[in-house]
Amino acid sequence: MSTSILNADLHCHSVMSDGTLTPEQLAARAKANGVELWSLTDHDEISGQARAIAAAQAQGMKYLTGTEISVTFANKTVHIVGLGFDHTNTALIDGLHKTRGGRSERAQEMAEGLAKVGIHGAFEGSLKFVGNPELISRTHFARFLVESGACQDTHEVFRNYLTEGKPGFVPHRWATLKNAVQWITEAQGIAVIAHPGRYDFTANEEYALFTEFKTHGGQGVEVVTGSHTVPEYVEYADMAREFNLFASRGSDFHSPDESRIDLGTLPWLPGQLTPVWDALAHRIQ
Ligand code: AMP
Ligand code: MN
Ligand code: MN
Ligand code: MN
Repeated sequence: MSTSILNADLHCHSVMSDGTLTPEQLAARAKANGVELWSLTDHDEISGQARAIAAAQAQGMKYLTGTEISVTFANKTVHIVGLGFDHTNTALIDGLHKTRGGRSERAQEMAEGLAKVGIHGAFEGSLKFVGNPELISRTHFARFLVESGACQDTHEVFRNYLTEGKPGFVPHRWATLKNAVQWITEAQGIAVIAHPGRYDFTANEEYALFTEFKTHGGQGVEVVTGSHTVPEYVEYADMAREFNLFASRGSDFHSPDESRIDLGTLPWLPGQLTPVWDALAHRIQ
């Protein structure tokens, strides 16, 4: 029997990266929304995993370890989700530590860029929203820009600031695709291409991403995510079949005030796909 009809939510963020809720608050919210299998996937960080495991257990909810690694591919930022890995694996911990390095310098440069258009004090202002000093992200800047009245909400921020060609954008080199996939798979997890519909790739670049990802040992793709439109569910279900990838489902929830899709409220995975949780049954805790 297919297990596509399972309320799995395998993508969200806590205060350990750029979410506003703690792992415990997220676990309670996921449970209240009917989530049956949960994963906390903080950006470039797994120090919240022990708390998430304990919180899921306290809620009587199944859990897969998770992270979302920032990767530079074809000069653009791509996100690779890792699921079901051993969160005590030292190569993975070290790799993520290196990936986080440089965020603080980048943030200083972002603040300099914003100062040039008259927005001052963005570095210090954004720090107030940061839960993990190693993980200052554009999301924290976005919250500062809303608080200071420069924008109405964080979506408006990303339309006008912090993205390519806009004030406050600073190009950055993250992990390589090969390293990210290998850190996850060598820690017994499965690597998953996060929200592929969000990258501005040409068809050729997207094909190269999927092909290279598989070459390095990647096995999954997010099909149903808070970042995809309904036509993209169909498009990436086709890609999952074409590339013989396991399919994942996750809200990418960050905050009750900012996220359009709440934990556990996405449509089901389309049928005829193999859910990534089937391949990770032995890693569920
Ligand atoms: P960073 O890792 O510092 O580059 O920040 C990336 C984060 O910013 C993502 O994980 C999202 O939470 C947020 N973000 C990036 N682009 C957008 C966008 N266009 N709309 C909303 N949030 C965005
Ligand atoms: Mn984020
Ligand atoms: Mn992402
Ligand atoms: Mn995410």
